[in-house]
Amino acid sequence: MSAISNLQPAAIWRNFDLLTQVPRPSGHLEKIQKFLLDWAAQKGIEAHQDEAGNILMYKAASPGREDRKVVTLQGHMDMVPQKTPDSPHNFETDPIETWIWTDEEGREWVKAKNTTLGSDDGMAVATIMAIFEDDTLEHGPLEGFITADEETTMYGVEHMKDGELKGEILLNLDNETHGEMVTGSAGGVNQTAELQYEAAAAEEGDVAVKVVLTGLRGGHSGLEINEGRANANKLMARVVSDAIANFEARLATWNGGNMRNAIPRHCEVVLSVPAENAAELAETINGEWRETFTSEYGYVEKALALTASVEETDPEALVPEEIQDQLVNALMGCHNGVMRFIPHLPSIVETSSNLAIVEIDSTKAFFKILVRSSNDTQRQACCDTLEAIWSMAGMKVELSGAYPAWQPSPESPIVELMKQVYREMFGEENHVQVCHAGLECSVILSHCPGMDVVSFGPTLRSPHTPDERCLIESVGKYYNFVLETLKRI
Ligand SMILES: [Zn+2]
Repeated sequence: MSAISNLQPAAIWRNFDLLTQVPRPSGHLEKIQKFLLDWAAQKGIEAHQDEAGNILMYKAASPGREDRKVVTLQGHMDMVPQKTPDSPHNFETDPIETWIWTDEEGREWVKAKNTTLGSDDGMAVATIMAIFEDDTLEHGPLEGFITADEETTMYGVEHMKDGELKGEILLNLDNETHGEMVTGSAGGVNQTAELQYEAAAAEEGDVAVKVVLTGLRGGHSGLEINEGRANANKLMARVVSDAIANFEARLATWNGGNMRNAIPRHCEVVLSVPAENAAELAETINGEWRETFTSEYGYVEKALALTASVEETDPEALVPEEIQDQLVNALMGCHNGVMRFIPHLPSIVETSSNLAIVEIDSTKAFFKILVRSSNDTQRQACCDTLEAIWSMAGMKVELSGAYPAWQPSPESPIVELMKQVYREMFGEENHVQVCHAGLECSVILSHCPGMDVVSFGPTLRSPHTPDERCLIESVGKYYNFVLETLKRI
């Protein structure tokens, strides 16, 4: 038993402590699945594992509440395995070691020793266990739905059966801030534009100029798309376009970005330039372009670094001139970043695109984009806008990996009830949010349409890192909020 099993409310912390003893990194869930089924059997709770690896549990209504709506309490069983470089921890075999840390403001947090804590989403599983084992609570019929591999592929919800859930209301317990409710999330789709061509010969008397843009912050292409950060590919397009127009430059290669869901932080381009123009081009990039980007982005991009250098070896082959111009025009003209905010929640991004990866060499070009929206037809409109630009450059365009939006409803009964309960309990407003990234809720809704869905949870910080921590005082408030909500449904 560790110190955290003595924290209050005991019901939730005792169960969370048990969960820290069961290894459960994404992709290795046998131990946690067995633990949950054994635990349910021991408590006399009806439970089973479905074909997708999810665990379902059922609990009858407390007396007199049999006619209430069925509520599904949901969280994911897996955790992200991250540790500090010096930690010997083995996530497949070792328990998580917890301790209590006090921040500068005197607030107490539960943390793990040099690893992720697994409060994302162990807090949800502990909540479900606490509620299911307590026969003194008042509530309607309950269903527990503990999902598999949310953090990697959303395997559990992707492969659940249509209509598998009995619930009419879904309480997803995977949000990270007490005092905030998520009522919608973005869907997404991968767009890939591709073009193949014959290489053009290198130009006599040309030299190579290598341009490197690096040190950008990058970040999550959904959650951080509205922060005005620089996209390395979009900035590079301006430099290359200028080099072509004013220095007779030709494009040899372009490599920008490496992950579709990350804002690109780095881009490298090799140009071929008449020898007499090379030094001036490098000077212009190292001088004017660097100053321009620093003045535009210095506030958010403190480590931005742009350098151009004249190289010893010349490129062996080039992108054909006409194709090069079309590709660069397309990169200049394509939309990138926020496209629209939600009309009834104007501070929240609805639709965005991220020009994530650009790879060009002398025979082929690939552009990879991730388009997100909490409105499925706006997502399509954004894809169509981009496709129009890529088509003008003669590129072939494909979509893949689409997942649906959880479109926020301006009048959800569960959201209205929970706003009221929160106001009565805490004397302040519960903030309504829409998440500009994919959540399990949208996939569950696609299998079980018509559920009234909301996502909330206790306060966690830095999930997915060894600095993950859970704010102790938020857990009691959150747990009482769940219990009061269940009583009022
Ligand atoms: Zn989570």
